[in-house]
Amino acid sequence: MNHVLAPADSASLIRREVAGLPGYDPGADPDEVAALSGARRVIKLSNNESPFGVSPAVAEAVRLGLADGVSRYPDPTGRRLAEAIGKSLDVPAGRVVLGNGSENILELLCQAVLDPGELVVTQAPGFSLHETFPRVMGARVEKVPVTAGFGFDADAWREALAAGPKLVFLANPCNPTGAMLDAGQLEQIVAATPRSALLVLDEAYGEFARTDPEYPDGLEALRALDRPWIVLRTFSKAYGLAGVRVGYGIASDTALIQALDRVRTPYNVNRPAQDAAIAALGDHEHLADTVRRTRLEIARVTDRLRGAGLRVVPSSTNFLFIDTGRRSDGVARELHRAGIIVKAWREPGYENYIRASLSTPEDNDVFVRCLTEICAKDKP
Ligand SMILES: *Cc1c(COP(=O)(O)O)cnc(C)c1O
Repeated sequence: MNHVLAPADSASLIRREVAGLPGYDPGADPDEVAALSGARRVIKLSNNESPFGVSPAVAEAVRLGLADGVSRYPDPTGRRLAEAIGKSLDVPAGRVVLGNGSENILELLCQAVLDPGELVVTQAPGFSLHETFPRVMGARVEKVPVTAGFGFDADAWREALAAGPKLVFLANPCNPTGAMLDAGQLEQIVAATPRSALLVLDEAYGEFARTDPEYPDGLEALRALDRPWIVLRTFSKAYGLAGVRVGYGIASDTALIQALDRVRTPYNVNRPAQDAAIAALGDHEHLADTVRRTRLEIARVTDRLRGAGLRVVPSSTNFLFIDTGRRSDGVARELHRAGIIVKAWREPGYENYIRASLSTPEDNDVFVRCLTEICAKDKP
């Protein structure tokens, strides 16, 4: 057998839109950081995961499902999970779509809705996939900047929405800033969005914000509208299920769900993910506990970093967007050497920022100490 690989050049096969895409940046590899730092335990603050784990009911549900066998395909409709979600939110199960993470639904929406050259409006700084998936379809992406104080720029949004987008991706709260829109601001976006556009409200961090009376529950805000919308949520963040990949959307109407069903791979949500999500959804106490502990840490760490002179954006999520006062890729490298992984932000204008999700109080203390030490050195 000849194991020598002949050099093949597939570059000419690749669509122009795909060849020009930036790769997704998942953050540094924990094994590499462990090797670099010699740390026994790496503190991973780069992916907005929950440090508080999952409901104990999840392990049991997955175990029972696995005992039942994995030789059969999962339910392609995810009926039990869709019904449980529908019941918890008072919407018909036929208006619920499930995804292999809510990222999968972002992708399906682009596939179902976007023609080449059409316009998508989203925010900057923002979530990279809100730009990547539209670009795969050949759509144009217009990113509305936040104000200098990381607030909502009503005029800029109005102007961008007046250009006639087909799709609007709005994350509330926003990743990476952690800031949220209040009810009045969301209402302004809804009012300015053309009726011919699909409004996608990405509430990946909604569970953390919902205890704030100023936070508008997207489903309640959009429910009564007679125009196309979809609210996206996920089990990856507050529910702690990032590893099994399951998210969902609640849509304005069943026709949108049926279109997504036509483009999705039929078994997109695996059996353990469906079982895990049903169990997680039923444990209100674990969710409330995670949200409560997260909010305490967000408030505490924000205070400590500000006390050390760092600028920190007020966060309604489980992560902080922090101005390090110098190029943040260098700061991230120094943190790696201490066994801590954060994301150095790369969007133009934000190269001094890191995004760090919080962990347990002990780990957060290590993070605060290392970061403030790094930022106190040779202050620019
Ligand atoms: C994390 C995240 C998601 C979704 O993650 P999944 O794990 O795919 O459910 C979606 N949108 C934003 C803004 C996120 O930060």
